[in-house]
Amino acid sequence: MSLVETLARLDVQVPSFEPGHVWLAGAGPGHLAGLTLEVVAAIGQADAIVYDALVDAAVLKAAPQAERHYVGKRAGQPSASQSFINELIVRLARENKRVLRLKGGDPNVFGRGGEEASALSAVGVPFRFLPGVTSAFAALAAAGMPATLRGVNKAIILATGHGIDDQDHLDWASLTRTGQPIVVYMGMSNLPIIVAGLRDGGLADTTPVAVIQGATTVKERLLVSELAQVDADVRAAGIVPPALIVVGEIVRHRHALGSLMREVILP
Ligand code: SAH
Repeated sequence: MSLVETLARLDVQVPSFEPGHVWLAGAGPGHLAGLTLEVVAAIGQADAIVYDALVDAAVLKAAPQAERHYVGKRAGQPSASQSFINELIVRLARENKRVLRLKGGDPNVFGRGGEEASALSAVGVPFRFLPGVTSAFAALAAAGMPATLRGVNKAIILATGHGIDDQDHLDWASLTRTGQPIVVYMGMSNLPIIVAGLRDGGLADTTPVAVIQGATTVKERLLVSELAQVDADVRAAGIVPPALIVVGEIVRHRHALGSLMREVILP
């Protein structure tokens, strides 16, 4: 049965998007098939779509009725500032548009959804969050790694490798004391600092580490390495952002059917 036929049979009821409202939505990890049905419905109803670099621009084909505002990075140019984005979504809502703010993954997992929500609520613009599949879980699935496995881990830590400024680092050593796997978002540029922090915290040099680039996209790649080696291996393999770093035993429990397009397995 085709997707369209299946959807017709499901008869999903979706909330209606009111003019003057903003929906802060996650577009999933990259591939269009990772969109949730409520986000698909929102795309069809939106008057304005404000989207980031990690959102596959192909979603816009489904919204010919909507005006588009790209606020992500362009070659050599930084993304629009957070205050610019806040003002833009408030202005569009006050123009009585249905405003869809689309972000990669989930809007509230290192996505600044909360900052935009507070800017909207400060001026009384109604909004809601539409969750999305966050890249960590999509990437683990693509790589054939369980996020949790009985007898191996009792928690999974989602961490950011990028603070508000250069001084704003997580206490990596304290995270290692939990003994639980860590998935690091936005960690590529600080990889040496992260590795040093984890080693200081007592993680063995041979701790398995995976780096997953562009999960669910045509740029998808997996590198499997060890803590002491991973920085050199990432450089040698030419792994580039967006990528996630997975540290811990779950990396050894990989049962993939080869869903990843290109793999670099080292040690
Ligand atoms: N809100 C997003 C995360 C935004 S922060 C989410 O829930 O996924 C941006 C970081 O997310 C990137 O630096 C990278 O670490 C990670 N990321 C996003 N999409 C990714 C993908 N398809 N593959 C690997 N990492 C991804």
